Amino acid sequence: MTTATTRQGWGTTLRPRAKVLPEHARAHHRSMVLQQLFHEGPVSRADLARATGLTRVTVSDLVSSLVADGLVAELGVRTEGRVGKPANLVGLRTDAFRIVAVDLADDERMHGAVLDLAGQVVERRSAPHGSTGQAGVDALVAFCRSLVEAATEPVLGVGIGSPGVVDGGGRVAQAPNRGWYDVPLADVVGAALGVPVHVANDANTAVLGELTFGGGEGSGLMVLTVGEGVGAGIVLDGALVQGHRDAAGEIGHVTVVDERDDHGTAPLGRALPCACGRTGCLETVLSVPALRRRVAGLDRAGADAALAAVGRRLGIVLAPVVSALNLSEVVLSGPAELLDGPLRDAALAAVRERTMPVISDDLSLRMTSLGEEGALAGAAVLVLSGQLGVT
Ligand SMILES: [Zn+2]
Repeated sequence: MTTATTRQGWGTTLRPRAKVLPEHARAHHRSMVLQQLFHEGPVSRADLARATGLTRVTVSDLVSSLVADGLVAELGVRTEGRVGKPANLVGLRTDAFRIVAVDLADDERMHGAVLDLAGQVVERRSAPHGSTGQAGVDALVAFCRSLVEAATEPVLGVGIGSPGVVDGGGRVAQAPNRGWYDVPLADVVGAALGVPVHVANDANTAVLGELTFGGGEGSGLMVLTVGEGVGAGIVLDGALVQGHRDAAGEIGHVTVVDERDDHGTAPLGRALPCACGRTGCLETVLSVPALRRRVAGLDRAGADAALAAVGRRLGIVLAPVVSALNLSEVVLSGPAELLDGPLRDAALAAVRERTMPVISDDLSLRMTSLGEEGALAGAAVLVLSGQLGVT
């Protein structure tokens, strides 16, 4: 089958430097049609033309090629009573292909799944990481191969959410806890398996998952992932924000406890050493291990107060970010028993207190609706986006 190989599907571009070639326009139109079918379900060619603004001829031509690729099926004549002649419906064959999704964020094990194109998990597996460096890459390749082999339909691609800094081409610039530095992970795994592979930072996959499957809004969405570490992924004006050196969203290592310059950080105690080599980072107070240590042995009221103190500090960190980017939603992904309560309430109150009403009066600060599935859903979106232009 012919699939778009561009990895630019997440973004819109200002100041384009090269002219749009006919094949790019065609790939773009093809993804518009797929996007419509993905989100709206079966429709007629006339509906597709209306929704996309493409001509009937262009739509018919694209649909024919998508039917030839096996991605779209003719579903017969619409039976509901409408004026005019009955229309033939076409729909995405969500069950005809599989996506392999892998989440590497957990320090203990790799988690993976085989999904259909609608994001439904049909097979789930996990395996230990193996050692760091090349041995870790080898273990990942073997794990991905086992998932590809478990798929009962052709595999559209493999999506991998990795910790660390990952560029738009799937090269891991640095993932210290995996021992990966400048590893072209997408190319290495892709060459070994013979299928397209897309790799992105795990917080970036989380925000793509929230956007596509979690009901997130694309105008200004941040997902804050809280686990062993703390990271964030941002979608702004419909595009994933990568940043100058692909490290956008790394707010886990912003200093929040600074004993030399104590602006109300006293309730959080001393500045603790961080995995990054510095002290007092957001991660040292907000990571799951840090939160568990903070509430250990406290009664309910004490634990609530301790979580609220961390939440207030989080809100102070978020306020300038929410203001600078004019976000509409901040989504927390992590254990609800720690995050969803006094911590979330105090964070939202602090953001509201420190920003203009036009910025924050309708800001939503909520828990993810995807639960544990968020990371895998996001890794699947890497493939939907990279191969079909669908998010
Ligand atoms: Zn740090």
